[in-house]
Amino acid sequence: MKRIAVFPGSFDPLTNGHVDIINRTLEHFDEVVVAVLANPAKRPLFSTEERKRLVAEQFGDHNEKIRIESFSGLLVDFVRQCGTTIIVRGLRAISDFDYEAQMALVNKKLDEGIETFFLMAREANSYVSSTLVKQIAPLGGDVSEMVPPVVAVALKEMFPVEKKK
Ligand code: ADP
Repeated sequence: MKRIAVFPGSFDPLTNGHVDIINRTLEHFDEVVVAVLANPAKRPLFSTEERKRLVAEQFGDHNEKIRIESFSGLLVDFVRQCGTTIIVRGLRAISDFDYEAQMALVNKKLDEGIETFFLMAREANSYVSSTLVKQIAPLGGDVSEMVPPVVAVALKEMFPVEKKK
């Protein structure tokens, strides 16, 4: 039986934190489904297709251990459709804990068979978030240590601003 884990998120955009969680999950599972939340109501910076493309560019279009999907609706339903019961999430500081615990508990309430596995963020990525990247990049700040090169290029194209002296 193939061991499959679903890593859901907004990935708006993909950061080094996400990349690290995906790579570490791959060490323990046969396949990781990167599940990009299609959430137009959240007004994402990158469209669902762009967010998927950046993940695909980072990990290779033909990487047989990674499947990139978008989803809307209940996560537990999507996880079942993927042929698994395992959700993986990353945990940064204590601040992530409340929200993540609430999500894990509600998903278990919705479907008792679902398990959420947590990986601690690497120390170097513990301050990295998509939100921070979205605040810094439009102002011309350097985000190259927070995101993979494909994302840095996409951000430069989106915000071709000169840094103010
Ligand atoms: P969401 O909107 O669902 O929180 P995100 O794209 O922000 O989506 O995050 C997806 C997952 O990746 C979450 O579990 C989040 O905690 C985790 N994550 C985000 N940033 C990091 C990071 N720097 N290191 C490790 N995990 C992270």
